[in-house]
Amino acid sequence: MEDRIKQYKTEETYVEIKRLFLSALKAYAERAFTKLKDFETNALINKQTLAYESYKKLGAKEVIQKITVKSPTNIEVKIRENQNIVVVADLEASLERYVIDEKTDSIIEGVREKIGTYNYRISLIENENTDSSIICENCGATIEKSEDTCPYCHVVNSNRNNRLLIADISEVSMRDILQEANEKYKREKELEMKNERLQEEMEKRRNSL
Ligand SMILES: [Zn+2]
Repeated sequence: MEDRIKQYKTEETYVEIKRLFLSALKAYAERAFTKLKDFETNALINKQTLAYESYKKLGAKEVIQKITVKSPTNIEVKIRENQNIVVVADLEASLERYVIDEKTDSIIEGVREKIGTYNYRISLIENENTDSSIICENCGATIEKSEDTCPYCHVVNSNRNNRLLIADISEVSMRDILQEANEKYKREKELEMKNERLQEEMEKRRNSL
């Protein structure tokens, strides 16, 4: 059990999480929903497809571009009651995001050519997808999972060994992150003070003996 957790507490996991998240954001931005299956669970893809369709129904289009992602922080590896592994991580992404009217191209929400910083908390679960084929991230062709490079466009197949799939992405505000850090600090401080009092008490007792 401990070994199962340990195998995710590695530098490799950080790199994998960042790569999966960036690939997922890019695929979502391109509306390449079939590509998403190599990075995300079906449940999450359905959720994103619905979000996209609800914009579409309104005649609106969400534009996401110029995406960069920083390395994940606060990585936690947990085992659920059903023995499944869950990896939770915080990620900061910089991107341009706005919503336009599909017909007139006018802005409905956000600002054009303004890079914003967004904070996300993502949950990942172990990839149980046993399909032998995946979608090439570069050209979109269906290729064998085991291929080192895509036989069509010759780009390295970086999704050959995806161990994890993103199960949830939620945006967290900077305020939430600060509040959480603050609460953690308070808890640690309280524990520290409790320990100090305990030691003082023991000292007193020792002296009175
Ligand atoms: Zn390709």
